[in-house]
Amino acid sequence: MRYIDHTTASIHMKFQCDSSVDFNLVSARYPVRLTDYYASLVTHSDDAIWKQCLPDIRELEDAGQCPDPLDESALSPVPGLIHRYPDRVVLLVSNRCPVYCRFCMRKRLVGSGDAPMGDEEVRAALHYIATHTEIHDVILSGGDPLMLDDDSLKTILAGLRAIPHIVIIRIGTRVPVTLPSRITPQLCALLRTFHPLYINTHFNHPDEITADSTSACALLADAGIPLGNQTVLLKGVNDSVATMRRLMTGLLALRVRPYYLHQMDLVQGTAHFRTSVRTGLEIIRGLRGHVSGLAVPHYVIDLPGGKGKVAILPDDVEINGSTLLLRTYTGERVTYQDI
Ligand SMILES: *Cc1c(COP(=O)(O)O)cnc(C)c1O
Ligand code: SF4
Repeated sequence: MRYIDHTTASIHMKFQCDSSVDFNLVSARYPVRLTDYYASLVTHSDDAIWKQCLPDIRELEDAGQCPDPLDESALSPVPGLIHRYPDRVVLLVSNRCPVYCRFCMRKRLVGSGDAPMGDEEVRAALHYIATHTEIHDVILSGGDPLMLDDDSLKTILAGLRAIPHIVIIRIGTRVPVTLPSRITPQLCALLRTFHPLYINTHFNHPDEITADSTSACALLADAGIPLGNQTVLLKGVNDSVATMRRLMTGLLALRVRPYYLHQMDLVQGTAHFRTSVRTGLEIIRGLRGHVSGLAVPHYVIDLPGGKGKVAILPDDVEINGSTLLLRTYTGERVTYQDI
């Protein structure tokens, strides 16, 4: 498996500025990587793009947090594979990304070491999947799978498609947001030969919706790839109803369907991004009914200990026997008679 050739933006020149000591301290523990494109979206220090990609000294404050709270390592029967749910697995095919997001839930893995999955590990993972006929859905993740070159991707995708019980393949990628030039017509021509193939991308802020990311999504959608989006709820970045309305409705215009809004996991080095669950619920309440239902993601908490994702909703129903008292999107209380 090989990575694409791609140079990192000269962040040290651009952003190191006055806080160089912090920068070096943090980047020694958690690597920093940026693309020229993503860096160009920064309009002023500490804006929503800056906060997502530039190191912060608070990453080193990690009292009581765990590098792997979801216990992914324990759920890994062979290296690089996470088998938590009965019918689907996650395959970590890359540990590289165009930009290392400071809030990443796989902070323990990304950017560490240089090798992507070796050919031997890919064979072992494919063998596991082939011998577990209950698996129907494989999610390529990482790191970013689209950091692999087209030939390496083709090898993995062809290996999966050769397994009869695999129905859908999903790719989780932030490349349309951080390195949209990676989405080429050649890549799309390759991906479309492996349908049904879904892509979940990862926009967190409306400022990430640009002419470039729009074109990248259009190429993918035109290749017949259903596009979803996973957003992480981030303090100071997107934790307001107004921002989320702009983001979620903006995505629909790109043919990207909001899928999950993730409550931040309790991952070491990311505590300064966490919001309370109440904030997340207020955001869902501020979306449902107010904007297209297609723009409303599931708000999920991925429970520590590998217990899985739980979708939560604002508490809009009170059940008294067969009478329901429901709260509408305008706040009106309405009774509904059940059977
Ligand atoms: C999130 C996740 C999945 C996929 O879950 P869906 O709800 O089907 O999108 C699968 N495996 C693991 C380990 C996950 O964390
Ligand atoms: S692109 Fe995804 S895997 Fe890579 S650093 Fe960002 S959140 Fe983590």
